[in-house]
Amino acid sequence: MKTIVQINVLLLIFLFNSCGNAQNENQNDNKNKTNNMKNLTEKEWKERLTEEQYHILREKGTERPFSGKYYMHNEKGIYKCAGCGAELFTHDMKFESECGWPSFDKEIEGGKIVQTPDYSHGMRRVEITCANCGGHLGHVFDDGPTETGQRYCVNSESLTFEPEQTLDTITLAAGCFWCVEAAFDKLEGIVSAVSGYAGGHLKNPSYREVCTGTTGHAEAVQIAYNPEKISLEKILEIFFTIHDPTTLNRQGGDIGTQYRSGIFYHNDQQKQSAEKIIATLNAQKVFPDPIVTEITPFTNFYSAENYHQEYYELNQQEPYCQLVVKPKLDKFYKVYKELLKK
Ligand SMILES: [Zn+2]
Repeated sequence: MKTIVQINVLLLIFLFNSCGNAQNENQNDNKNKTNNMKNLTEKEWKERLTEEQYHILREKGTERPFSGKYYMHNEKGIYKCAGCGAELFTHDMKFESECGWPSFDKEIEGGKIVQTPDYSHGMRRVEITCANCGGHLGHVFDDGPTETGQRYCVNSESLTFEPEQTLDTITLAAGCFWCVEAAFDKLEGIVSAVSGYAGGHLKNPSYREVCTGTTGHAEAVQIAYNPEKISLEKILEIFFTIHDPTTLNRQGGDIGTQYRSGIFYHNDQQKQSAEKIIATLNAQKVFPDPIVTEITPFTNFYSAENYHQEYYELNQQEPYCQLVVKPKLDKFYKVYKELLKK
């Protein structure tokens, strides 16, 4: 019953709130958040890093061979820069090396590692540093045993490791995607929540096209989640608390098929869970009217334009976000406090 009680509480909060985001189409694209950490002071670095990490990343130190925690490490996952979190290597780039340091035969593409000639200690070497934060990683040599011929010799202390997660994906339509994305984004176990358009017939539609209501798409949020950290049932429960699933093709003042309530399931388990929760909510008359949420197999999803992504996060000072989105989200975060990312 706890679930139902919570849903009742939240219905009062969210019912009949429309987003009216149609007026805000011409926002500047401010998605390009830079996370350049090269301007941090040494004092700030010392506060962020352990003594050993600071010595290696900032003072170009070298850990003792055969001593690092990732030397004999062979779990599946991603190795990141310990200074800034930039993703540098994946487990399948790592090979067993006798040199005493974690060794990789290539890097994740995208210019995340900078190579610089290094003539220190009377040697000719090529130093590798993190392009984002400038942290020293180690050196790269051209004596690698695999087909790339490369050996990225990296200090364990320069790296952190994130184990591979088994992720599931579900696509949910609940009216204006700004609020839906902002709500799910903050929950533990949600790896990404992307605003976009689902279930229509036009390829790569623009916001303007979707707004006409003729493309068949619904404003939707595609959610990648770790089922070990948040259950599908919890995600669906939250979905039903943040919009009104009883008004056909409408959320408050937002009217049109693009604002329909929908669950685009990616597998049978999701379909069954969706049917079950709707049956329960209807049976218990949690909503005064029957639920009209459509349950349809996932067919397509197109990411919305960049300015729609993390809209609330990046536009919190705007009157609309202050007056409409923030109060809703504040209440949401309060009720689901236990589930928020730490
Ligand atoms: Zn870095």
